[in-house]
Amino acid sequence: MNKMIRYGEQCLSEEDKQAVLEVLESGWLTQGPKAQAFGQEVAHQCQAEFGVAMCNATAALHVACLALDLGKGDRLWTSPNTFVASANCALYCGAQVDFVDICPKTYNLDPARLEEKLIDAKKTNQLPKIVVAVHFAGQPCDMNAIFKLSQEYGFKVIEDASHALGATYQGEPVGNCRYSDVTVFSFHPVKIITSAEGGVLVTHQKALAQKSHLLANHGITRDPDQMLEPSHGPWYYQQLALGFNYRMTEFQGALGLSQLKKLSAFVQARRQRAHIYDTELRTLPITLPWQHPDGVSAYHLYPIQLQRDDHIECKAKLTTALLQAHVGVNLLYIPVHTQPVYQRLGFKWGDFPCAEAYYRRSFVLPLHPKLTLEEQHYVIEQCQNVLT
Ligand SMILES: *Cc1c(COP(=O)(O)O)cnc(C)c1O
Repeated sequence: MNKMIRYGEQCLSEEDKQAVLEVLESGWLTQGPKAQAFGQEVAHQCQAEFGVAMCNATAALHVACLALDLGKGDRLWTSPNTFVASANCALYCGAQVDFVDICPKTYNLDPARLEEKLIDAKKTNQLPKIVVAVHFAGQPCDMNAIFKLSQEYGFKVIEDASHALGATYQGEPVGNCRYSDVTVFSFHPVKIITSAEGGVLVTHQKALAQKSHLLANHGITRDPDQMLEPSHGPWYYQQLALGFNYRMTEFQGALGLSQLKKLSAFVQARRQRAHIYDTELRTLPITLPWQHPDGVSAYHLYPIQLQRDDHIECKAKLTTALLQAHVGVNLLYIPVHTQPVYQRLGFKWGDFPCAEAYYRRSFVLPLHPKLTLEEQHYVIEQCQNVLT
């Protein structure tokens, strides 16, 4: 192979390109119909009532926290095995972050540990206001268990479904918010579908959707019904909250809408390729991704784990060999609590052993709809070379 086989890659068609070009002619570069329609269409696809499009999922997570009134003195808990954005959203709001270690089989936040931690937190009056459940690699978290705990301990639930557009949980689409207050999706180019940069927040709660829309638009409204005093005229607007400019452009909206038409084909392609890895790699001395029977993954990632965790150098050697053979392996994630920003807040290596063991042993193989059979067989061959 001369070219690097990347771990994730966007898949753009002529139709997608046309949709973006049309925006240039339309007269609306931002604040037009496309971004709004994209938000609604994402909500429709995952059977949620409202969808608000934003410039990226990080912004959507921030807005979701603000809309749920997270602030100083509050706590947000999430998984350490995630992208930093799932935790940073709390710090943006001046709240505290803590983590709940992962289940060694699913790599998702472990509801049993969540319960233990809640029992302790209740005793010291340090319960979280929000728990962010991250559907790692596209595999849904045990939402039913998390929801039950949220009822008992009174916290809100945000689903970070950046990896999981198109996944299902108990036969229903992730994002339907049956067991959460809001769900956030990312449309960064490596994700399931792309709008270049982009995020959508979906919810069933009308007030939450309105507040999110407001906060992503400077906190400004032009709707006389929302104003605190009568409108002065057609030019009038009011700033009701300190919001942000987190808007999605029309280019992003148009690209997202066009990509969304291919969602099920993309997810299907990912599942087929994951199935090929499942079959072809099963005799190697590695742990393949385990699928919880309640969920069907969207396979944003295909993580494999070495069966020994004592030598990170060993993993570094293997991944270097694969990269030299142009197999674009990657590592997701370095446990968030070990990042210098979080160490400065008092976290340290050793705090969340399952996430750390996962980090020491694992890496992800290339997986995306454009990965050809030939490329995939090459990846498999190279894995066989370095792993046996
Ligand atoms: C990609 C990602 C984000 C951030 O998404 P952006 O759209 O890049 O801001 C947040 N959480 C997870 C789990 C992600 O994978």
